[in-house]
Amino acid sequence: MRILIANDDGVYSPGIAALAEVASAYGEVRVVAPDVEMSSASHAITASRPLSYKRTRLGGVEAYRVNGTPADCVALGAYHWDSVDIVLSGINLGSNLGNALWHSGTLAAAKQAALLGLRGIALSAPVGDDPRFDQFKPWVARVLELLLPLDALQLVNVNFPEAAPIGLRWTRQSVRHYDGKVVPGKDPMGREHFWFTVIPIEATEEGSDRWAVEHGYVSMTPLRLDLTDEAVLAGLPREPSG
Ligand code: MN
Repeated sequence: MRILIANDDGVYSPGIAALAEVASAYGEVRVVAPDVEMSSASHAITASRPLSYKRTRLGGVEAYRVNGTPADCVALGAYHWDSVDIVLSGINLGSNLGNALWHSGTLAAAKQAALLGLRGIALSAPVGDDPRFDQFKPWVARVLELLLPLDALQLVNVNFPEAAPIGLRWTRQSVRHYDGKVVPGKDPMGREHFWFTVIPIEATEEGSDRWAVEHGYVSMTPLRLDLTDEAVLAGLPREPSG
């Protein structure tokens, strides 16, 4: 099995090294990832300048760095390596739950795989600047052992809980609203600047991705590319009028 690994934290993130190490037990592994951090880049692609694809050192794993987005990396990775079976993205330094999926570069890499007709799995963990991935590795292995053989799952979003997990859960994406928070500040030259972040404002729904990790489970959400609102579409007249 050929396993292509990408992320949005950059090729030198400890998360991608941990994922490559675990994944190596299940197939041939190659890392293709952005040369710098691209978190929250979502599914952007680089269309206005050329991309480079350069060999880099990453332990014993074959790895390449790209001056582009997570989606670019998956496209270039699949172009340079025939018959990729699956794309793994992560392990992201930070959760990707609920509405964060709209911004997530980690998920976008897995989504790009699905767009190319491959399978994609995104993995994220709520870790800080000094992450200890050793505690997650046995659970990453369990997740891969479960998901890799399930060919019907084209796109899956996996999130680990804060503490040692108590089990695995299939979940749905939380769609509770959040509030956008804009924080103003000044740079050292006195110029005004802003930070934009989001804060959840509603409690989690049972069975959702946010609920699962809050309760200590590894959350696994099967996703699809079709964003169509089926219920609304079914209620609309065949011929739009007005
Ligand atoms: Mn990230």
